[in-house]
Amino acid sequence: MCRHAAWLGAPRTLTSLIHEPGNGLFKQSYAPRLQRYGTVNADGYGMGWYDPDHPEPVRYRRSVPIWTDANLPALARIARSHCLLAAVRSATVGMPVEETATAPFTDGRWLLSHNGRVARDAVGDLVGDPAGGPGSGGEPAGGAESAGGPESSCDSAWLAAAVFPRRRAGLPLGDALAEVVSHAGGKDPGARLNLLACDGASLAATAWGDTLFFHRDDRPGGGVLVASEPLDERPGWRAVPDRSLLLASPGGVHVQPL
Ligand code: GLN
Repeated sequence: MCRHAAWLGAPRTLTSLIHEPGNGLFKQSYAPRLQRYGTVNADGYGMGWYDPDHPEPVRYRRSVPIWTDANLPALARIARSHCLLAAVRSATVGMPVEETATAPFTDGRWLLSHNGRVARDAVGDLVGDPAGGPGSGGEPAGGAESAGGPESSCDSAWLAAAVFPRRRAGLPLGDALAEVVSHAGGKDPGARLNLLACDGASLAATAWGDTLFFHRDDRPGGGVLVASEPLDERPGWRAVPDRSLLLASPGGVHVQPL
């Protein structure tokens, strides 16, 4: 199970998700506290952030353990944004360890991360077809090699390729996640589908089989943190119930059942 975290609020650096907090993603890569599946997250890591001068986010990902990238601390200290997303990965058995299998996945302004596992058959009929469609026996409807097809054979890449056509069809972030998670969860009862996504103006996350928390600070300079597990010891972290959708915008945080 991987671990992921995101921020929406006053501009901050990626260090605030990765290195600064006592239980930030760097620490969680080798000593996660609440991880239910897997013990270390050494199969890669990635991060994404928004720059006001560019319409699309900047995405940086590697397939090596986060602690082996000596260039990262300096980069994370200057990569600053009002909206950030980062993840460390523990590859599910049978999944490739490669950059294209590593979150965040991106399309237009959207960034997406997945904690969990899912049978690819359970999402194949959503890939490349915003209206859904008949089951395709595990082959993506859009074709793995076609534009918008999964960029890796990793299940998370397939989930991304199921969510992103919904972005292109104009669905709001939360609706796109809810649709894909409900569909995939219905077809694969053993699926774990904790998704975390952002578009620069809002965050959305699902809790489906693993832990999810948020922390909201309404003071000036504050914002919302959403993470697989609390990043620090401050009071105010709240657990999101399983099978829920979390929506966060500058207006607040809303959690609803899926
Ligand atoms: N199944 C995904 C992968 O292999 C996510 C793994 C995880 O959450 N540990 O990358």
